[in-house]
Amino acid sequence: MLFAAEDPFHTDLYGGRLTIDLEAIAQNWRFLKSKLTDNTECAAAVKADAYGTGQEPSGRALFDAGCRTFFVAVPTEAISLRQTLPDATIYALNGLLPGTADHYLENDIRPVLGSLVEVRDWINLCKSAGRSFDAAVHVDTGIHRLGLSPDEFSATLSDADLMGPFVPSLLMSHLACGSTPDHEMNGRQLELFREITAPYAHIKRSLANSAGVLMGHEYHFDLVRPGISLYGGQAIETEINPMKPVAKVEARIMIVRNVPEGDTIGYGARQTARRHLKNAVVAAGYADGMLRSASSSDDRAGGFAMIEGHKAPILGRISMDMITLDVTDIPENLVKRGAFVEMLGPNVAAADLAAYAETIDYEYLTSLGQRFRRVYGPLT
Ligand SMILES: *Cc1c(COP(=O)(O)O)cnc(C)c1O
Repeated sequence: MLFAAEDPFHTDLYGGRLTIDLEAIAQNWRFLKSKLTDNTECAAAVKADAYGTGQEPSGRALFDAGCRTFFVAVPTEAISLRQTLPDATIYALNGLLPGTADHYLENDIRPVLGSLVEVRDWINLCKSAGRSFDAAVHVDTGIHRLGLSPDEFSATLSDADLMGPFVPSLLMSHLACGSTPDHEMNGRQLELFREITAPYAHIKRSLANSAGVLMGHEYHFDLVRPGISLYGGQAIETEINPMKPVAKVEARIMIVRNVPEGDTIGYGARQTARRHLKNAVVAAGYADGMLRSASSSDDRAGGFAMIEGHKAPILGRISMDMITLDVTDIPENLVKRGAFVEMLGPNVAAADLAAYAETIDYEYLTSLGQRFRRVYGPLT
């Protein structure tokens, strides 16, 4: 599966390259689907440029793998996905922002209605057309972001006069604590969702994100909406990640230099060489998605890169355009000017880096910059 991204520059001119493995994304989707019974549909969350992997190529790869229902966040994402996938079912999670209804109808996009006002607006639209238009209704079972309160949900859906011709195409809710399956919130949300949607068993129901898929059948209902797992991320913090990595970031070594013992490295002079060090300066920084919070200092270890099986810890602050790596103990022939260093990928899990950066791998993926050469192919 290849996607030819247009590349105006010679490969040598880039500071690094970002490789995306579309076949791995397809495999991850098939793996998640294999966890479901035949009655449950496996959809895909492709918001935020498919978590940084590219909405168009990743959307196509997922459709080719058999995925038919897609979730994005904002209307612009929905409409560009519609250009890519004319036959897919597309839901926009952000719902019915003012001024969006006509665009949704024109482009056959289904809003995920997230408040009473949005549901009422949609119902009025259906009533004036004398027919139902497809849309999901989001019920809040405890996360308190989008969604009708359980009371609003039940009062609305049970009121036939109010609903008029509108029949929702999906009833959904979202887990707040899926990444920690033992959290009591999960069971509470599950029970509440099951209870308030029970009278509407003729309408499809959906509760699970990636973590919900991995948490087992009772969370699956009729449709699941995985995102992060498709892109190789770690949906459940406490377990070994079963997904294949799909992205690899490699940056080029610009300079290899010596740092005398006692000297400091980088902005703020926050890291002191405790012995004579050899460092490699690589062309990737926070502008390329290498989050600055994974910086290192005398008080706190930062992230790392990998060079042919050798760990190269980050030294000092991560800058906008470069990172300094400790290569003191790595064989000299592996640390060559112009060579590529793995900053994130099969040997540097985004979830591991994220632990140093006090964030989650979602943020690493969705931050992947636009400055690297993008290559679609295997992560070899
Ligand atoms: C982003 C999102 C998903 C996908 O979540 P992951 O944790 O990435 O699997 C599913 N449902 C909703 C409502 C979302 O916002």
